[in-house]
This record gives sequence, structure tokens and C-alpha cells, in this order.
Amino acid sequence: MLSINDALNQVLQQAKKIRDKREPIADTVPLEEALGLTLACDQISSIDVPPADNSAMDGYAINTQVLDDSPTKMPISQTIAAGSVTEPLVEGSAARILTGAEIPKNANAVVMQEQCELEDGYVVVPANIPPQNNIRQQGQDIKTGDCILQQGHRLRPQDIGLLASIGIAKVSVYRPLTVAILSTGDELVEPGNTLSTGKIFNSNRYLLKGFLQKLNFNILDLGVIEDTLAATKASLQKAAASADCIISTGGVSVGDEDHVKNAVTELGTLDVWRIALKPGKPLAFGTIDNTPFFGLPGNPVSTFVTFLLFVKPFLSLQQGQKHITPRAMYVTANFSNKANPKRQEYIRVRFNNGGLELFPNQSSGVLSSVVQADGLGVIPIGQTISPGDKIEYIPFDEFYR
Ligand code: AMP
Ligand code: MG
Repeated sequence: MLSINDALNQVLQQAKKIRDKREPIADTVPLEEALGLTLACDQISSIDVPPADNSAMDGYAINTQVLDDSPTKMPISQTIAAGSVTEPLVEGSAARILTGAEIPKNANAVVMQEQCELEDGYVVVPANIPPQNNIRQQGQDIKTGDCILQQGHRLRPQDIGLLASIGIAKVSVYRPLTVAILSTGDELVEPGNTLSTGKIFNSNRYLLKGFLQKLNFNILDLGVIEDTLAATKASLQKAAASADCIISTGGVSVGDEDHVKNAVTELGTLDVWRIALKPGKPLAFGTIDNTPFFGLPGNPVSTFVTFLLFVKPFLSLQQGQKHITPRAMYVTANFSNKANPKRQEYIRVRFNNGGLELFPNQSSGVLSSVVQADGLGVIPIGQTISPGDKIEYIPFDEFYR
């Protein structure tokens, strides 16, 4: 069996090679359509944000140099609302100013209205107001020339907001790759039908579609493939002709009806197979007509785990993304777990009371385990876990960056 690290390195090397040979195509899209897509170039600001000093409060703009050591009574010379044009501050006066309005020339502080008193049309301002009080300085968020987001960054809602804040209406993003998916298994029936003897519903197809939708890839769904070598080969070739990457589920073990491995060996190359990983040992990776191929094991939890650990980082790299490694944290386990002498385990755990709970049934066929869990606990080969031990924990959200 290959170690997880060696397998992942091989997979990622391959992704880099593909990307270097054929950089994803860049398209310019409206900002509203860019969520979840990957930036094709650095985003440099051509303005300061905010563009000018402005008021952080509703209150009075003044010049602190004219304040006395006791409260100062001043005339109110103008009212400035957000969005309006300001006149320079008349010396010795205060300007009524509202949040977000530009600070008038010659003013250097804003006193919040709650600290002031109004007396016969004048405002009484307290002593000891420091310069720059309640002023949001020009460029405090972004300065002209700042790179606010880098090429290879996958856009989140806050990134879209930041791009809008510098006036960008269109961005250059990589066109999403097309990923072909196919399910093997004569036992599979599509949801919405009735189950007959020996059949089960196809869950992996929908699980994979969900992943790919969430990660903004285009999907080429080739449906369910009959468990024969000929059908498997035909389908894989069809996928290779029109997709950037192929993912199949099932049929990668060593059973009589497991044809995927043989099909790939006959059509292309099988580079990785059998990894010291639980669940997901029989994961296969290779190429068919130079199109990368992942054969994920059929048990739904194995499909889930191998997708996140191998396919997701591969696709992210191929798509031109930079941040592809999920960040782990160390969290206290509230359970015990027997050592596995041969394979690193990815157990389904839930975050509760600052510690991790173990989902009781860790079988690779129990899809409820990933639904009840918040993330994966990583148990290195040969390690016994006792309550109170700190273990590596990867929240599911980390995989969707
Ligand atoms: P296989 O590797 O084809 O032997 O599949 C391993 C296990 O996963 C078997 O119990 C299959 O019935 C199950 N399985 C395979 N594909 C799917 C699928 N698409 N949805 C649900 N279960 C599946
Ligand atoms: Mg099968």
C-alpha cells in the first residue's frame, strides 16, 4: 500500500503538470456571477478606500485648536450628510455631520452628538477632544496600488464585497473545468424509483454532484455504467473525450465485477492504487487519453473521504487555485479508538463542548456518519486514542475553500 502522503504528492504533481501544459481559460464575468470562481489575475486597487476622510459618527465636525479647556459654545455653520459636497469649515464654528459624510477642510475631529449640548441654535462641545477623534481616515481600508486579492483565489461573498468596494464591476476568472462522473454497479437504482430485491439507491452520484456544484465545476453526468469491462471502457473513453477530469465510483476493488481498474490499465495508465487509508483504500488514480481519472471506492463514506482528500485538492490545482490544503487543528478527543496497525484513519467526529465526539458506527457504508459529523479526525497508523488526547481535526468547511 502507498502512504497517503506519497499518493497525494503523485496526484498533485500530475495536476501541476496538467495545469502548466494547459492553463485554464480566463473569462471576464460580471461581479454578480463570480462567486465561487477563481481569479485569473491579481486585483489591484486604483483608489483609496475610503476615498476621503469621513465621519464615523453622527455629531459635529470641529477644529480642536479652537477648543477651550472648558466646554466651548460654537455656531453651527453647515450640515453635511453622507454623499453631499462639503464647504471648508468656517473658523470657530462646528459643522453638523452625519455618519459617512466627508470631513470638511479645516476640521480635524468629530464629536459624537451624545457628548454635545444644543443651546439656542449653538452647540456646546466638551473639552479634551483629541485630533482625529471619530475620523475614518482616507485609505484606512485599502490604499491605491494595494493588491486586494491574488490570482488563484476562489471568491467568497466577502471578496465580492471587497471588489465592489474598489469599484470593480467585472473580473477575470478561470472558466470552470468540466468534470465527468459515472457510477458503476448493477445494484444501483435511481432515487424516485421502487427498490426491488438486491437493489440499493444510487447515493454516490448525488453526493458527487453536490460536491462539484458546491465547488463550481461543470458536471458531465454519464449516469450508471453496467458492470462489464466493455461498458466500463466505452464510458471512460467517452468521458475522456469531453471532460477535464473523470470521477467514477465503485468497481475499483478486486471483486469479480470490479472492472474499473482493468479498464483504466487497458486504456491509459494507473498511477496510484491501494493507499494506506481507511476508509478509501482502493482509490485508483491514473489517466485515460491524457485526461486525469479518479476511481473512487463505492462505499459512500469512502467516496466522501477520498473525494475530499484527493479529488478536491487535485481539481483545485488544475483549476488554477492556490490554497488547496485544508487547515487542521488539534482538538481534545472525548472518546477512545483502537490503533490501526496498517492504515491512517479518517474518523467522522462532531465538535461538542470544546471536544470531539465519535460517531458510533464508523463503517464505510454508513453515510449517516458524515451527516452527523462536523469534520474528520485524523488517526495516524498505530496510534491508540484515549479520552483527553489531542487529535488532528479537519472541519468539513476547510475542504470547500
Ligand atoms: P464496489 O466497490 O463496487 O464493490 O462497491 C462497494 C460498496 O459500495 C457496495 O456495497 C456497493 O453496493 C456500494 N456502492 C457502490 N456504488 C454505490 C453508489 N453509487 N451508491 C451507493 N452505494 C454504492
Ligand atoms: Mg460494484
